[in-house]
Order: sequence, then C-alpha cells, then structure tokens
Amino acid sequence: MRHPEYYQLGLGLPSNLDEGTSTRKQQSRPSLRRSQSNGMLFDLFEITRPAPRKKIARGRGLKFDSDLTEKCKRMVGMVGLDALAGQIKVFWNLRLSSTAGLAHHSTAQIDLNPRLERFGPEEPERTLLHELAHLIAHSRASGRTIQPHGPEWQSACSELGIPGENRCHDLPLANRVIKRKLAYRCRYCGIIVPRVRKLSRDSACYPCCQKHNGGGYSRRFLLERISIQEAKLLAPEHEWV
Ligand SMILES: [Zn+2]
Ligand SMILES: [Zn+2]
Repeated sequence: MRHPEYYQLGLGLPSNLDEGTSTRKQQSRPSLRRSQSNGMLFDLFEITRPAPRKKIARGRGLKFDSDLTEKCKRMVGMVGLDALAGQIKVFWNLRLSSTAGLAHHSTAQIDLNPRLERFGPEEPERTLLHELAHLIAHSRASGRTIQPHGPEWQSACSELGIPGENRCHDLPLANRVIKRKLAYRCRYCGIIVPRVRKLSRDSACYPCCQKHNGGGYSRRFLLERISIQEAKLLAPEHEWV
C-alpha cells in the first residue's frame, strides 16, 4: 500500500492519485472499518454476551410451527389486522422452562413451551391464543402504552374465543421453578428480561440488536434494571420472587 497513513487516519486520499489507487482505496477502507468495529464489538461483547453464540443458541432451541403460524394468520386476518397477519410466526422454544409462552411484539413472534403438550392439546392452544391476544392488543395500540393484561388484551381474548382468560399461566411447567430476582427492560422495545443473576451494565436487548442493527451490539438497545414490583405488573407471566 502506497499511502497507509491515509487509511489509518481516516483521511481522504490526495486528489492527484490515479484511478488504480482510488479503486484500492475503496477496497481497503471498508476492511479497515470492519476490523476496527470487530475489535470494538469483541470488547463490548466480552462484557455482555457474545452475539454469535447467542444467535446459535436461540436458533437451536426454536422450532418453527407452520400449522400454528397459518392458524394465527387466519385469526389475525379475521380481526382485520392484515399487516400483523403477514408478519406473525409461531415457534416452539425448547429453552423455555417455567414460562408457558411469550409474545415478541417487535417481531410478531410467539414462542410456546413444548412442555405444554404434556397437559393435553388444549393447553398449547390456549397459550397460543393468550399470546396472540398480546400481539393483537399491542398492534392495535400502535405505540400507545397499554397494560399487558389490561382491557385491550382482555377484549382481544374474547374475540379469539377465550373470554375471561387468566393473566397468569400457573401450570407446573418446570420441575424446578426458578424464581427471578432481577428484572431488566429494553429501553427500545420494552421487552422484560427476567434474570437470576445480575447483568453487566452494558447488556443490550438481543432481539433489537438482531432486528435493527444486523445482530451487532448497540447501546441504543441497552437493558435497564427495573424494580421487581414494576416487573410483576409488566410481565406477570414470569416467575418472580
Ligand atoms: Zn400474558
Ligand atoms: Zn429490545
């Protein structure tokens, strides 16, 4: 390389360089940027959670269910939410222990606990509708803050044929129920993350990093500690101490 100092300092190349060199400039700049950001990501992920490992772990624990996805699409279409119907996906999440199901608002995904099937075919069905009601209520609220199991959710439950649905699933799903002592909330999507152990201050919301930042770490999606009282209100489906 004839002018390494320009690349390293991030300065423009002198305008009198010939075309051959400017091609090289285009090639070497991104690679420099990439290695710099790799170094940064590496350091940051050392004190949070390494993204590639988590990506594999989540992928491994998830089984897509096309039948249940189709079913949800039909039901959501029937209540007139076509945009949501187009996005929705249902997975069996092998990593869920005491949680029956989860609704990911930002990605319109529902995770179901495979252990639900132990309780007969009606349990996965009921949990599916419970979580679907969360997605419907959230979608209708269009950004407005609503209580997770408030009137909007309750009316969605009625429309889905489970009026009077309980806000909590109290199935003995886990052999060993782990009570979560700590709660975190993503400052961007609001997802509640229950934890047994403390997270580092720099931990970011994984779904948001995936969705909005190509899987890379960003402080825009930092997880912030909230009180257990608040967590119980916002996410009563988890086991809190
Ligand atoms: Zn719920
Ligand atoms: Zn988030």
